[in-house]
Amino acid sequence: MAWRARPESLKLVAAKIRKQNWERQKQDGLDYVTVGDFAWYDHVLGTSLLLGHVPQRHNNGFPDLDTLFRIGRGQSQTDCGCAGEAASDMTKWFNTNYHYIVPEFSSDDQFKVSWTQLFDEINEAQQQGHQVKPVLLGPLSYLYLGKEVEQGFDRLSLLPRLLTAYQAIFAKFEKLGIEWVQVDEPILALELEKPWLESFKLAYQVIRSDVKVLLATYFDSVVDSLDAIVDLEVDGLHIDVVAAPKQLDEVVHRLPSDWVLSAGIINGRNVWRANLHSALHTLKPIKRELGERLWVASSCSLLHSPVNVELETKLPQGTENWFSFAKQKVSEVSWLAKALDGNEQAIEHCAQYSQPILDRGRSTWVNKPHVQSRVATLVSTNGDRSAPYAERAHHQQEVLKLPKLPTTTIGSFPQTAEVRKSRAAFKRGDIGVAEYESLMKDFIKDTVKRQEATGLDVLVHGEAERNDMVEYFAENLSGFQTTEFGWVQSYGSRCVKPAIVVADIERDKSITVDWSTYAQSLTDKPMKGMLTGPVTILCWTFPREDVSRETIANQLAFALQDEVDALQQANINIIQIDEPAIREGLPLKKRDHKEYLNWAVKAFKVSAASARPETQIHTHMCYSEFNEIIESVAELDADVITIETSRSNMELLNAFEEFNYPNEIGPGVYDIHSPNIPNVEWIEQLIEKAARRIPVERLWVNPDCGLKTRNWEETEASLTNLVQAAKNLRERLL
Ligand code: GLN
Ligand code: ZN
Repeated sequence: MAWRARPESLKLVAAKIRKQNWERQKQDGLDYVTVGDFAWYDHVLGTSLLLGHVPQRHNNGFPDLDTLFRIGRGQSQTDCGCAGEAASDMTKWFNTNYHYIVPEFSSDDQFKVSWTQLFDEINEAQQQGHQVKPVLLGPLSYLYLGKEVEQGFDRLSLLPRLLTAYQAIFAKFEKLGIEWVQVDEPILALELEKPWLESFKLAYQVIRSDVKVLLATYFDSVVDSLDAIVDLEVDGLHIDVVAAPKQLDEVVHRLPSDWVLSAGIINGRNVWRANLHSALHTLKPIKRELGERLWVASSCSLLHSPVNVELETKLPQGTENWFSFAKQKVSEVSWLAKALDGNEQAIEHCAQYSQPILDRGRSTWVNKPHVQSRVATLVSTNGDRSAPYAERAHHQQEVLKLPKLPTTTIGSFPQTAEVRKSRAAFKRGDIGVAEYESLMKDFIKDTVKRQEATGLDVLVHGEAERNDMVEYFAENLSGFQTTEFGWVQSYGSRCVKPAIVVADIERDKSITVDWSTYAQSLTDKPMKGMLTGPVTILCWTFPREDVSRETIANQLAFALQDEVDALQQANINIIQIDEPAIREGLPLKKRDHKEYLNWAVKAFKVSAASARPETQIHTHMCYSEFNEIIESVAELDADVITIETSRSNMELLNAFEEFNYPNEIGPGVYDIHSPNIPNVEWIEQLIEKAARRIPVERLWVNPDCGLKTRNWEETEASLTNLVQAAKNLRERLL
């Protein structure tokens, strides 16, 4: 770990970034600069350290930066000279692709302010002459977002102890001369259980001090919680007007007369320039009513948005003014606030500042004749395959002749340095198409050979040509714009670079067919084609704001449907359509799940609808909370689904106890995130466990996820054991 050698230089770089960010906020005329948004890993883990709340196994008595990284990344045996320590669990932050380390709670937990980062940074900003507004994750959201690691205990019972620590934090704020603090309680936008909602009142009474509190919510409406919110001892409320515009009127109407309203009207989660013209129109009457009590803000933290669009030098002509990244969003907030204050120049600026894509009118997609006829077919068939699963399974067996408990992988194979180097050289233009293709074919050949040697039943080409499962399709379909530097944090130091949907999505050439058919030509075993599903592409890109997510998903689905058809025409008889993001797209409120799942399931089905009965459709998902969407997963009607299960020791399959999953399923038998090589007995035992819930005739044997982060040595050893386990089980169970 490079930072360990030079922690001091890491800290210097961090201080420089903070300084720049604060100066930028000041230049843009923001009244307060935010402190507390700088996280070494993620801000929930930062809060755990602030509160001195560190899992026992990582606690050496004095939490420091080392402790923080150990919790976030685990500790290998070579690092510590001990048995090694697993990283804490990580999960997605609401419906975003940003992750946080899950706090672990047990009944004897203590909280004590023991990490001075927040206060040091307040000092730092004040010394640079800024007026500071710290931001802090609120006590109830902190508790709610964690998990109990002790049976029969309710983490809400820790609240009194936790509040003592928050009192101490507020006392420090007072000493530092802080006027306002933003306390994030995003759980107020969920359908919160009564005991949690009712705990807010007491909590905010207890931490009341002379520092004013802006209670911040985002990602959905707080109208459900409004009765409780307006009763709290706080001084203002931030709401997300982009995600839930309808709440604005009601919140204004019911806002206590001495509260500030922070209207989050600049979208923190997308890259389109704001429509300042209409934002001004929306806020003007509220400004008349609230005067100084109306604040203007981004809808949520700007960490969900890339940094600076000025760095993009390769955007097509005419689109330079379409986008707005974090830096530009700060200016948008500032222009809007000035315009609301009656500044003539700002009013003029806002009048002319709108979303360019809207100028081109609404999507013309649905009106195109070829689309109309496809939509009509879709309505009449409901996206169903032409035959039910049982019949398809019969046809597929005739074509594929697979053994029982077939073995396969999830798609990617090690992305070695050579693989990445070849792709980069092609991208830079250092090598031409012919050379690139021949290099990729070599990788495919090698991958196929190694799979044959391990004895796998269904092979894959290995995905060497893909840098990222979504960006690859975005680059090859029309309707997307990719960026050079549009990075957004996913977890720790890992970032993703989502593409932007800028027009109707269409497939004007085949994408994967050549690679898959080449791979198939090298072997007699069935070759599985590999696609990323419509919902996952949608969730991991920046969508347009002038067409619905459903429309974009449908456009993607039709494009993929054509790719499925082209693959089967080229004799690829198994096609996997990955949907690892389908769960992440769930709306925050359960009552909205159904509507989302309806169109998401439909989009998946549409993408697979061209498959003939004898073409076997696989899908893949990798996360553990699966139970709440299990029925929708079944509705996808994929012939085979491969899922992550090994980390939970097949617990995930409990969902299948009550729910009889009708088709075939491959519960992942080893965790690809770990370098450990699973032994044969371990794999057998997991599959036997699975066989108690799912008939063995419908079980597959495969790893948890793609193998691109592993090396060949680990991969071959693991897969050899996997194949051996399947062979042993065939003898024993069948
Ligand atoms: N097919 C992809 C791979 O194997 C799936 C990745 C994922 O599920 N995130 O890498
Ligand atoms: Zn996966």
